[in-house]
Amino acid sequence: MSSKYCGYMGKVMSVNLTTQEIKEYPWTDNERELYLGGKIMAARILCDNFTGEEKPFSEENLIVITTGPLTGTGAPSSSRFNMSALSPQTGFIASSNCGGTFGYYLKKAGYDALVIRGRCAEKTWLDISNDKFTFRSADDLWGTRITPCHEIIKEKLTEERGNNAKFGTMCIGPAGENLVLYSAVLSGERASGRTGIGAVFGWKNLKAITVSGNHTVPVFDEEKTRKWCKKWFGYLKNHPLTGNQLPRLGTAGLVSSMQMRKMLSTKNYNYGQYEDFEKVNGETLAEEYNIVNKGCLTCPIKCARTVRVNGEAVKGPELETLGLLGGGILNSNLQKILDWNNEIDELGMDTISASSTLAYAMEANEKGLWDNGLKFGNIDNISQIWEDIAYRRGIGDELAEGSKRLSEKYGGREFAIQSKGLELAAYEPRRAVGQGLGYAVSNRGGCHLNGGYMVILEGLGLNTDSQTPKAKADFTMMFQDLMETISASGQCLFTSYAFFPGFLITRPNGGITTAANRLIPHLGGVIRVMNRISPAIAMHLPVFHHTKMFRYALGMPMTFGKYLRIGERGYTLDRYVSTKFGVSSKDDSLPKRLTHTPQDPENPKTVVPLEKMKKVYYKARGWDQNGIPTVNTLRRLKITK
Ligand code: SF4
Repeated sequence: MSSKYCGYMGKVMSVNLTTQEIKEYPWTDNERELYLGGKIMAARILCDNFTGEEKPFSEENLIVITTGPLTGTGAPSSSRFNMSALSPQTGFIASSNCGGTFGYYLKKAGYDALVIRGRCAEKTWLDISNDKFTFRSADDLWGTRITPCHEIIKEKLTEERGNNAKFGTMCIGPAGENLVLYSAVLSGERASGRTGIGAVFGWKNLKAITVSGNHTVPVFDEEKTRKWCKKWFGYLKNHPLTGNQLPRLGTAGLVSSMQMRKMLSTKNYNYGQYEDFEKVNGETLAEEYNIVNKGCLTCPIKCARTVRVNGEAVKGPELETLGLLGGGILNSNLQKILDWNNEIDELGMDTISASSTLAYAMEANEKGLWDNGLKFGNIDNISQIWEDIAYRRGIGDELAEGSKRLSEKYGGREFAIQSKGLELAAYEPRRAVGQGLGYAVSNRGGCHLNGGYMVILEGLGLNTDSQTPKAKADFTMMFQDLMETISASGQCLFTSYAFFPGFLITRPNGGITTAANRLIPHLGGVIRVMNRISPAIAMHLPVFHHTKMFRYALGMPMTFGKYLRIGERGYTLDRYVSTKFGVSSKDDSLPKRLTHTPQDPENPKTVVPLEKMKKVYYKARGWDQNGIPTVNTLRRLKITK
């Protein structure tokens, strides 16, 4: 089934692991216009297949792997692909986004997406080469860590296809095989880390997928696309965030900014500042440990760090890992964080959930709820813990369940720092209450990005009043919708950092920046109207290059308003699918520490006024006060008829 739009390969394949049947999954241009690709397309497929009776570990659970239409067109940072499934961690539908080359090679094989169902009878490696789907034995891969698994696969395919063989790979590690609830899938050194889809692979006996092919991604107007990409690359390279901070320090550069704003999770979110932060911040990482910056395909930002661990050059930690394995457990040993970050990746786990679960366990021990030998500030016995979790040995077997389930068993729900079962990142929301709302309402659980990444307004980009709930719900919705479409088109969310004109960042105390910061809390009504009538915003924004790329590369008409509306549709669609599994307002929650215990005991405002913001948010989204999308909203967004 081909497409009138370029960028798409025009084919989605359904793979049944039980019967080994391969067939085309119907997907039309009308659906491409409504759902684009990536996580929104995956949500539609899950919506059409799930009744609400499915279980995460069951043949009926689907893994939907989707690319975006801009992948392979040369657009900046456009090699991202998405994976969605019913999450074992949250029990709701969840998506996880990954860089690397797999998405690009899936398109080279001739496909926009894979819909995987059933369960393999034996340990399996699925190899896709153009129209040939081969179910290969994974007996010799099972039990391997991530790098050895990639190496064995490379060796075999090189032997079979020659030294010039090019292919994309994804695989799980021992954690996924042993159903650790926060298992990741890794493609090279890039991770589809969050929500536990690695465990779904493990349950399905699917160790790895490889893809290759010789198709060409069609581009609508090559000349205009090339010129626009050149302009866009230049814009990103000259922007203070995407051209300076991220390439220079990576996300690790945010540790110091968060410390300054009391937003750095410390001692399992008891505090927002860590006295030894300079030993574990981005500057120290860059000066003493970083070897080289790396990036995903077609990315000018190159935010990834490479560091040395045991003599090997390996991927360095992101801000979240530095925060949670640094101040989060009162550890100032940066080399240990680098070692652990690599170990967690190699075992195939999500660093955020693994680290935050550890911090919960330390506090449970400190409070006498669970005698587990783990203590804040004592890192002697940590290095072994990661392998114990991945192989479910000793207390590792319990830690493999994540902080929510542990707090239900041992107590301490108020300090299990998670939402919907997914642990929060390192941004302390009591000093960025919009981010707090985002964590709580995020469809995939406590995720800073799916939550709208409001910290960019609340101190890490601009500097609006971070304690006021005013306008936060409306901006949260707009940012969530924008990022939803960026992700669905196959691009990295970091391209949205350049949305704010550079002078607002470089001159934080300038007159215009100060005025903008003061004005933003009063713009709630304006943003709400914009969100509501978005298709009427029939224009392109000069600071937002994404929309014109649709016209040039795909031949698809696009405006800023239409782009926003697609994101809104995607966000509500995700929610709608999860309502089949019972999601409601009660799940849009934060641990009481964040909503009831002021971070500053002298300042009662330093909590997240969640319920107040949720009411405005639901109304803005057209969801009822129980957090359920109304019939009218579903029709307005063309999700239902
Ligand atoms: S900004 Fe970083 S994560 Fe995003 S595409 Fe570039 S290198 Fe990959």
